[in-house]
Amino acid sequence: MTTMTVSIRASLAMGALALAGLACLALAQPASGETPANDEHGGEWGGVCASGTQQSPVDLSGAISASASPLKRGWHQAASAVVLNNGHTVQVDAANAGDVVIGGVTYKFLQVHFHHPSEHTIDGKSFPMEAHLVHQSADGRIAVVGVLFGEGAANPELNRIIAAAPEREGKVPATFPVDPGRLVPAHAAAFRYMGSLTTPPCSETVTWTVVSQPLTASREQLAKMAAKFPDNARHVHPLNRRYILKTAF
Ligand SMILES: [Zn+2]
Repeated sequence: MTTMTVSIRASLAMGALALAGLACLALAQPASGETPANDEHGGEWGGVCASGTQQSPVDLSGAISASASPLKRGWHQAASAVVLNNGHTVQVDAANAGDVVIGGVTYKFLQVHFHHPSEHTIDGKSFPMEAHLVHQSADGRIAVVGVLFGEGAANPELNRIIAAAPEREGKVPATFPVDPGRLVPAHAAAFRYMGSLTTPPCSETVTWTVVSQPLTASREQLAKMAAKFPDNARHVHPLNRRYILKTAF
């Protein structure tokens, strides 16, 4: 994790992208080399990943309807962006791509990455893919917007991202406009709960907003993502004492 942070810091000149590197801690891995697809593989993930009681993802069921802090969208086209294959996922780091506001707290957009299959489930139902839009507040809190994808019509944004993603670990500047807002449904409801990063260090500092209305990706797009990362999803965790709220989105 330290090595990765240092290398990302050293290789990224822009302050905002260095911040994105910090968020990539969510995608850091043990030094053993082989990427664990999830924490069921030999229990390599210790610490809060193993002992935490507010871990993510969860099955989204039994949600309580509430008007609690709907998310305010402030995304826009990024000033610059980088598409990367970090060995765990396809990810787009974007600088100056706007923010979201939840409960009066502003969270700046850092990056979006993908899990195949989905990490969250709805009433026990899994989806072929899930996008995570990662945001961070000035005091270091994380807000992630999860967008589920079912199989259907192709998503044009995904085409550009998948086509640009390096085959092996590496990164390239995005040569297409990146706007996080294009990866979320226009208007929908969402599930809100308090949880964690889904990769080490599994910090329980994440306000999750998972959109209840899935987008679609084509069979070809899903196959391309599966070819790169057949299974990079963590399994669902117990809710314990938490509540899931359903809010406007
Ligand atoms: Zn994720």
